[in-house]
Parts: sequence; structure tokens; C-alpha cells
Amino acid sequence: MWKRLAVRTAVVAMVGAALCLTPAPAGASPGLAADPAIASSPNVTAAATYTNSRCGNTSGRVLLTFDDWAYGDPYRATRIGGNLRAKGIRAAFFLINEHASKYPDIVATLRQQGHWVANHTWSHPNLTTLSDSSMRWQISNGVTSNRLRPPGGAYDSRVSSIASGLGYRICMWTIDTLDWQYVDGARRSAMSIRARINGASWSAKSSGGILGHLSTKYPDALPGIISDLHGQGLLFCHNRGPVGVNMPFPLTCT
Ligand SMILES: [Zn+2]
Repeated sequence: MWKRLAVRTAVVAMVGAALCLTPAPAGASPGLAADPAIASSPNVTAAATYTNSRCGNTSGRVLLTFDDWAYGDPYRATRIGGNLRAKGIRAAFFLINEHASKYPDIVATLRQQGHWVANHTWSHPNLTTLSDSSMRWQISNGVTSNRLRPPGGAYDSRVSSIASGLGYRICMWTIDTLDWQYVDGARRSAMSIRARINGASWSAKSSGGILGHLSTKYPDALPGIISDLHGQGLLFCHNRGPVGVNMPFPLTCT
């Protein structure tokens, strides 16, 4: 009989210079203390360790992620979702809920298309600057899910702890396209975004997440990104149809 060990041990993730602890979310099964006798049993497989930067992606496949909101063109999100679905690709969207809550059809359509839609707070504040109660309010009023992408990637042990208490794991990324930056007065180009991704390590590409935004040239770069990574022998998170509100761990990408 296969028995999975729930690893309660805090996961250590390096984010910049910050060392952040991420306990298992509320509601997770009680963890078992590491037991060498059990761990060495051939009939027991230790559960993979959740790493914030990889967002639970241990699949060896590329996970595309899309943050914020497509200002002025909200349905850009579902067009992207439809195009990815047609290619058999599952992505993850972290929407700012003060916008998304006005378009419940967009959230529903994305999930129906087979994409995860998760929490990016209500109005995108830097969570580390908020009081405990304000932080709880921002997360509680975000898109309901079990993954939180902290706005600006800003989190610390207090954010992790409060998020965990609300049932959320922190979901960061392994490749930052820097698509939000302006270069010579214009948004970073699709070619530059592709170069950022191509220059990343195999590990960052294959078991993590690519960070981009709905309102930049990142969506325009997608055909090139997909072609580039396929050419390198990589596969994308496989879209197997509609998903629920939660992102499983490990991610279902194969
Ligand atoms: Zn954001």
C-alpha cells in the first residue's frame, strides 16, 4: 500500500535575500514527523516538498502564469485562455479581484478552459506593509482559491503565516519576464521577453512558473515562447479540461 507522507516541515524558499518560511496551509492533513524507518520503507513515498518559487510544479513541464488584469480589454484574458486551450496548454491566472469580481464570467470561462485562477488580493497592495487585519481582508477578498501570489512578489514570514491560516500557499515564479518594464519609453518587446525566458535555466523552465502580465506584450510573445520552448524539447502543462477553484499539489500538468 502506498502511503504518502504529508510534509509539515516548513519549506525554505529564497526570494531575493529574504528567507521565508511556509508552513502547510490550514486544513492540510496533519504532518508526520520524519521517521527514518518509515522513510526508508520501499512501500512509502515521501510527498514532494512544496517550494514557493515553483508554486507546486514538480511536473517537469512549463507553467505559464498571467498576473493582474487586462486593463481596457478584460476579455484579452479569455482570448489568451482559449488560444492556450486550443494548443492543449494549461496556464494559471492571478487576477486582481477588484476588477475580476466585476467579470465573474471571465473567471468561470478561464476555469472552464482548463486554467487555474487564483488569488492576487483585492487591490494589489504590498502585503508586507499592511496590518494583520488589512492583510487578511485583502486575501479574503481576493479570488477564492488555495494559492496566493503576493503583489509585487512581496512577502515575508508574517504574510506566509496569515495566508496559511486562510488556507493559502504562496505561489511565486522561477522566471520573471520583466514584461512590465519600460525600455526606451515602451513596454519591453516580445523579442526581449522571449530572450529573458530562453536565457533561464532548464530547471527554472521545466518545473516552476513563468511570470508575465495580462496588460503587457507578454501575451503577444506567446506564440514565440511556445515555439522556442518546444524547440528546446520542453513541454507545457497539459490542459486536461475544466478545473476547480484550487490548484492541486503537485500541480496536475501531465
Ligand atoms: Zn501583480
